[in-house]
Amino acid sequence: MSYLIEGETGDWEVVIGLEVHAQIVSKAKLFSGAATDFGAEPNSQVSLVDAAMPGMLPVINEVCIEQAVRTGLGLNAKINLHSVFERKNYFYPDLPQGYQISQFLEPIVGEGIITLDMPEGPREIGVERLHMEQDAGKSLHDQDPKRTFIDLNRSGVALMEIVSKPDLRSPAEAGAYMRKLRAIVRYLGTCDGNMEQGSLRCDANVSVRPTGEKELRTRAEIKNINSVRFVMAAIEYEAERQVEVYEDGGNVVQETRLYDANKGETRSMRSKEEAHDYRYFPDPDLLPIDLTQDFVDQIKATLPELPDAKKQRFIDDYGLAIDDAATLVADKETADYFEAVAKAGDAKLAANWVIHELFAVLNKASLSIAESPVSSDDLGKLVGLISDDTISGRIAKDVFEVMVTEGGDPADIVEDKGLKQITDTGEIEAMIDALIADNPEQAQQYRDGNTKVTGWFVGQIMKASEGKANPQMVNELLKKKLG
Ligand code: MN
Repeated sequence: MSYLIEGETGDWEVVIGLEVHAQIVSKAKLFSGAATDFGAEPNSQVSLVDAAMPGMLPVINEVCIEQAVRTGLGLNAKINLHSVFERKNYFYPDLPQGYQISQFLEPIVGEGIITLDMPEGPREIGVERLHMEQDAGKSLHDQDPKRTFIDLNRSGVALMEIVSKPDLRSPAEAGAYMRKLRAIVRYLGTCDGNMEQGSLRCDANVSVRPTGEKELRTRAEIKNINSVRFVMAAIEYEAERQVEVYEDGGNVVQETRLYDANKGETRSMRSKEEAHDYRYFPDPDLLPIDLTQDFVDQIKATLPELPDAKKQRFIDDYGLAIDDAATLVADKETADYFEAVAKAGDAKLAANWVIHELFAVLNKASLSIAESPVSSDDLGKLVGLISDDTISGRIAKDVFEVMVTEGGDPADIVEDKGLKQITDTGEIEAMIDALIADNPEQAQQYRDGNTKVTGWFVGQIMKASEGKANPQMVNELLKKKLG
């Protein structure tokens, strides 16, 4: 099921590569001791290094190196024991140094792989590299009618730039890549993945070509997209725009474009002629990073179970379907919540309740799993009551509703409201006998071979018992009595 754009001249394929900037979880910046907390008063977290005062020298923050290596290992990537910081030179008001310290020719992490769980099966997307670099400051245009202010709090904050190969072929794959990458860095604790706060930002390189063509055509780069939904929408718009350009006899130009979420379109920001010549060269203030294999191995030994491994374990140990397992491991909190519910015994039932009933409640109220009105312990108890036949699945939905709106222990709710399932054969038999006696016509229909009438009988018994009769027992006893 491939994604193709139908043009007037034929079908077009989309080729996408993503460059993701992920802010490293670290108390201090990449080359200074200034704090990195989000939302602080402007210019309150700026050291002399971050403000690029003359004579100030950068000092590498070892935690950031560990985090970059940890991320590389989580992406199954090659760790380069030798890497080099370089200066990327450009002038911009929010960049007081006049250059960004980045890595260019020799990044700390080389090629890796991210596996996507697509509906049509797994897809392996290549990671080209991961390098460390500093963030720039921020221009504030909305504080004064005439002037622009600069906030340097972000100046010098450590980033990992993670560059994919041009392996993605649809907006859906790009979205899945972003979600998977975010899940991995969150599991690793190397980036909080918060796209609204800018901890994870995406530049998308997009080009199109007629299906079957081998060469890559000219790409446009869409800068700084800050939500997964926008990444997908921006790519879809841009790909269709390019197809139109070619089909109108034009040529796509290499340029940087911006995505306007309000209008749902991309527009040109600067063309290749205006592109910077960054004049990279090794930063003379910083020594190359030379890691020992021992340092890398120590980090490797502390890696947590990552989404792919967890997914496989959920399939093997709990017997979950691939889709359900993939859904549950998409974020670590959900996976942990599910495992706590599954302790009740029936893991498949637990998965169903988390994915269908709980997610519906959370989505409706825009809550995260951490804010769930029902604790994993209580949901586990509810699942336990279903699997030991105390209540039916139907009644469980009513109990769950009470748990969501009023809270409380499911066993108490069942007790208080008298919702226990009727599994006493005598009691059910008596109900059936009365029903048959009152409805001889229907009973005769059954005996005449119209077995469909069983459904009517079951419905009547369930109604009479207010949904509490065990449906399976009702079915069995009905057959016996009518036959
Ligand atoms: Mn960058």
